[in-house]
Amino acid sequence: MTEIIKLGISSCLLGNNVRYDGGNKLDQYLMDVFGRIVEWVPICPEVEAGLTVPREPMQLVADGPWIRLIIIETKQDRTDAIFRWVEKKLNHLEQEGVRGFILKARSPSCGIRDAEFFSMQGESIGARAGLFAKAVMDFFPDLPAEDEERLRDPAVRQRFFDRISV
Ligand code: SF4
Repeated sequence: MTEIIKLGISSCLLGNNVRYDGGNKLDQYLMDVFGRIVEWVPICPEVEAGLTVPREPMQLVADGPWIRLIIIETKQDRTDAIFRWVEKKLNHLEQEGVRGFILKARSPSCGIRDAEFFSMQGESIGARAGLFAKAVMDFFPDLPAEDEERLRDPAVRQRFFDRISV
């Protein structure tokens, strides 16, 4: 019997309406390429941490050495809500035996490397991993983590396949 490969995936990429605007980012390409060989484990850090759908858009803000997740309009800080949830979630994912992650590009929670972040004055000052993506990569250093855009690259996709198949 073929072993099922479990992959954690940003829930919005599966077509679930969990985004801040109540929509989704269904990625049919991922469904076609991976759908038959993996069991998806959907994750939406923001909703699972207790934020609503819809919700105010947020961005990453550098606060000295810290990176915080801040609602753009009201400046309310949602960092702690995410971190409280992350700790338990990572242990659950480990118990579930996930073999890798596909996370939504550019999201302040899910972006693997390209979530824009801002100074306290609102200037864009760079790009980095989102809060959840960073926690995933720190907790599972040996598992592959990619975003849906990089997986369009055949070389990146092949490396990802190789790593989840071992
Ligand atoms: Fe949720 Fe991540 Fe998708 Fe944002 S990018 S809606 S946090 S799964």
